[in-house]
Amino acid sequence: MRDDTRRWIEADKKHCWHPFTPQDAWVAGEPLVLVRGQGAWLWDSEGRRYLDGNSSIWTNIHGHHHPALDAAITRQLDEVAHTSYLGFANPRASELAERLCALFPAGTLERVFFSDDGSTAIECAMKMAIQYRQQTGEPERTGFIAFDQAYHGDTMGAASLGGVSRFHERFRGHGVPVTFVSGMEALRQLPAEAVRGTAAVVIEPLIQGVNEMTPWPAGMLRELRAWCDAHGVHLILDEVMTGFGRTGKMFACQHEEVTPDFLCVAKGLTGGYMPMAATFTSAAVYDAFRGADERAFYYGHSYTANPLGCAVALASLDVFESEKTLHHLQPKIALMGELLAELEATHPRVRAVRQCGFVAGIEVEGVTGAAVCLAARQHGLLTRPIRNTIVLMPPLCTTEEELRLAVHALDLAARE
Ligand SMILES: *Cc1c(COP(=O)(O)O)cnc(C)c1O
Repeated sequence: MRDDTRRWIEADKKHCWHPFTPQDAWVAGEPLVLVRGQGAWLWDSEGRRYLDGNSSIWTNIHGHHHPALDAAITRQLDEVAHTSYLGFANPRASELAERLCALFPAGTLERVFFSDDGSTAIECAMKMAIQYRQQTGEPERTGFIAFDQAYHGDTMGAASLGGVSRFHERFRGHGVPVTFVSGMEALRQLPAEAVRGTAAVVIEPLIQGVNEMTPWPAGMLRELRAWCDAHGVHLILDEVMTGFGRTGKMFACQHEEVTPDFLCVAKGLTGGYMPMAATFTSAAVYDAFRGADERAFYYGHSYTANPLGCAVALASLDVFESEKTLHHLQPKIALMGELLAELEATHPRVRAVRQCGFVAGIEVEGVTGAAVCLAARQHGLLTRPIRNTIVLMPPLCTTEEELRLAVHALDLAARE
């Protein structure tokens, strides 16, 4: 092991506390120190190369060290790194808001509120949804409906919407009131009184990521939209994972031509380069916050609309066009399906495969997901399991050859 690797690991084990990590096991293990990236590849401090099989926790879109994205940040650095969005506008935020809103049908989601990450994008939608009711004569609508096994982030409000007991149960009662349902059937059976007290329903459209990559039935999103309309309930779509091409279209809601009242994005917004998020909403919602000062939305963060983040998000949208990212993605989605179907049919330890666009979960049996991911490193693939489901969602720039490598690495790793 190189001296600097040893030094970094020592300092990490002595001082760092990692997210979603039992620390004793971490300290007993031998962490990789990632130092460099190029395209779909990452290098550790020992010079070993790995495919980024989960897009660096679901964030990376066009690959690492992309020249256009890198240049956007350096260009912006020549101007200014950060200025306050409280009381000031900035050029990149103006440009980005215009570009993003143009991705939705005219007259639908035409207003955007920037924040920092998926959790804050959700917090923001929740607070808007509650305050909207206070200012439109329905203050009794304070509750939320969410789905079993949902994941919407870790801040207290967003975590209240979470249905994964291992993460969320201990904080129950510390957040906002939420009614959980398993699907449309259960939603339709809720007592009318509960529905009348509901401000909004929140869902991860098409596929629940943290719930071991579990897709919803086709058509469900459209049914949910109709239910919300019939009951005067707002629909919040959490596209933090699905946004920016992951499902094969720019946004998951486009598969069912559904327009939500709030749409939250984060992870892929900056191509996976900078922490930044956005909550979109309609003119109808925005209008309820106009007028007297006390109707304003008193919410924000110090780094709201950070110019570096906006600059790289703009560059990412440019790359979607210049590289025809979504066009080139379609055959790769098909190939992923073929490779995984073969794995499912022939591999003794693959129990099930679930896929939605360029996102897949491979459920293994007779071996733990953690063991498979550790073994996959030896075959040049980095990813992280959710229990016994291996996540495969590489950057959208991943080539067919790289995709074959990734699946082959998983195949070998799951046999060990
Ligand atoms: C990751 C994720 C979040 C939380 O985003 P952070 O940036 O980690 O706060 C929320 N919802 C979904 C669907 C996610 O995948």
